[in-house]
Amino acid sequence: MILTVNRDRIVSEIEALASISEAEPPVVTRIVFSPSDLKARAWMKARCAEAGLTVREDAVGNTFARWTGSDPSAPVVGTGSHIDAIPNAGKFDGVVGVLGGLEAIRALRQSGFRPRYSIELLIFTSEEPTRFGIGCLGSRLLSGTLPPDAARKLKDNDGATLDDVRRAAGFKGELEEVSLPAGYYHAFAELHIEQGPLLEQQQIPLGIVTRIAAPASLRILVEGSGGHAGAVLMPDRRDALCAAAEMILAIENAAHSSGAIDTVATVGICDVFPGAVNSIPSRVRLSVDVRDTDLQRRDLVMRTIETTCRSIANQRHITINLELLNADAPADCAPAVIEALSQSCRKHELKFLPMVSRAYHDSLFMARIAPVAMLFIPCRNGYSHRPDEYASPEDVVRGTLVLAETLAALSE
Ligand SMILES: [Zn+2]
Repeated sequence: MILTVNRDRIVSEIEALASISEAEPPVVTRIVFSPSDLKARAWMKARCAEAGLTVREDAVGNTFARWTGSDPSAPVVGTGSHIDAIPNAGKFDGVVGVLGGLEAIRALRQSGFRPRYSIELLIFTSEEPTRFGIGCLGSRLLSGTLPPDAARKLKDNDGATLDDVRRAAGFKGELEEVSLPAGYYHAFAELHIEQGPLLEQQQIPLGIVTRIAAPASLRILVEGSGGHAGAVLMPDRRDALCAAAEMILAIENAAHSSGAIDTVATVGICDVFPGAVNSIPSRVRLSVDVRDTDLQRRDLVMRTIETTCRSIANQRHITINLELLNADAPADCAPAVIEALSQSCRKHELKFLPMVSRAYHDSLFMARIAPVAMLFIPCRNGYSHRPDEYASPEDVVRGTLVLAETLAALSE
């Protein structure tokens, strides 16, 4: 089997998909179920059909493009990623795994290879949390991690429910039908840019993910008492922002004190009310993101954050309300898929680095229903989620080649 990845085709397809955006180039913004997302989906489906694949979509818009194997009733070998993009994003996050997956399948077809297991490209709906506040919507539903009832209640910033928005976008059927039956997958491999600097720094062309870190997020509503910035004297104040400031530092400290480099905590949003220069802040909303590769350690940090914030609130005579938005478990990648990826790297004499994925991906949820692993390619300076995100054509081609080789090995 001689595998040839068509470099010009995949490079021009990455450019073409990037041009379907709500923002001016080079910025890519493609929010789930927006006109540009729907246009990008139509464009992708046309490419899949052109490649001879059979396309189907589920009720939440997850899109499957299948190359039927010689044993059509056998479990499936899957690959794929997402094409939605946060505001002000770049061209490669998710897209490399979708177009790389498609190119890998085309390379295999062209080589004369015939799979025993069907090979299926999967384009996940809403990996990014932009619209509905929760990431990996499609894979959570596919894996049964998110109950359909809870999904139906999700609302976007305009108050529209997921159910209304997806139906308006043309995705009918019931959310109950989205979850995949047990044993659907023989294996699943996701190609993705690293979104960190390690591969580039160590000049290693490929990373094989052995573990995916577990994200948890909290919203903390801090309520004090407002008033005139001149008239209310310091002893009488219950300033919500001063309390929130102490909490933010306590959250940072909670991550430091875990003793592990893999523990990270971030306060990414601090909304201050009323937000006037001469008014004491009466209310603050913090959004907290905590991640770790170890569930117990992460949950210990979460508990520390909660008790510390409550004691700060007590000392300052302020009330807080903590709302746990999600607390997902980390995932171990499957030894068989890791081995298939490693063998493919060795076959092509490519060095690889076993690594942890600190960002989470749809594979985190797919790992609950399928043997999963991920393949990373370097991205310049580790930049991602910004317009200057960049992966070189050589790296994209290398990742695609190893993915193709891996899909072949897993589907024999
Ligand atoms: Zn991504």
